[in-house]
Amino acid sequence: MDPKTAEDNLGIIRSMGCRSIHVGGGEPLLRLDNLVEVLEAAKRSGVSVEYVETNSSWFKNIDEATKILSKLRKKGLRTLLVSISPFHNEHIPFSRVTGVIDACKKTDINVFPWVNGFIKDLSEFNANRTHSLETFKKRFGQDYLYSILKRYWIHLGGRALDTFRPVLLNRSAREIIDENPGGCGRELSDTSHFHFDLFGNYIPGLCSGFAISAEDLIKPISKKEYPLITMLVHSGIRGMYQLACKEFGFSPARSGYINKCDLCTEIRNFLVHNTSEDLPELQPREFYRNRQLQIYA
Ligand code: SF4
Repeated sequence: MDPKTAEDNLGIIRSMGCRSIHVGGGEPLLRLDNLVEVLEAAKRSGVSVEYVETNSSWFKNIDEATKILSKLRKKGLRTLLVSISPFHNEHIPFSRVTGVIDACKKTDINVFPWVNGFIKDLSEFNANRTHSLETFKKRFGQDYLYSILKRYWIHLGGRALDTFRPVLLNRSAREIIDENPGGCGRELSDTSHFHFDLFGNYIPGLCSGFAISAEDLIKPISKKEYPLITMLVHSGIRGMYQLACKEFGFSPARSGYINKCDLCTEIRNFLVHNTSEDLPELQPREFYRNRQLQIYA
């Protein structure tokens, strides 16, 4: 996020009562100078930064990591959320994670381990290599993926839909609709933990792939500009499904879905790729581009 966008959005959320934020990604430390600018923008805006998240992919050696974190510490960073999970270990060797934790100790930065409970599992493997989820299943049992849902809060949306669909009960689109007769107002208006994407759009609730312009936050959301979001607030997945079938010729591509968000994501993906509508509330487009690659790969 460029510093101007960051500062504009920080000003808006501060005016609405938010006094502290976290910075996530992607991976915020991939562009250190950019992260420094965002920390400076937060300071100027009078908004404190509770923590910055990292997956530790950037770690090369302890000296360099210490230098990087010292720079951030001088900019006021007090806590680093360090991701620790089998999903990260698919891509990032655990030695990089422990290296970042060591560098935090040297630079007086608190570590917020997300989550400590996986250290035991990761410690069973070669720390200098990555490991597939298949490897975890072979070591800890075939129900390993399912058991993770009891150890760790995971929002079942976005990429997690594809990861967990094979181990959860799948129900037909009709069953999902019958089970969810109400609107999604509770989810879409939840501001207890909210996000902006790097383009400066507000992501309502945890519903990845939806976007509301920051300047529209200070007034009631317009039905004309946000027809899908307002329809979902009032009519939920049932309304979304009926609209997609009647107006755009959608029919479910899968025989089963794990929840209403699974079906909602498929419908949105269909709309983005199969209609000529502009649909500015369905952003960032990369979210749908990536999903298309996953589905059709
Ligand atoms: S169904 Fe769609 S709008 Fe409703 S909570 Fe799930 S992702 Fe959000």
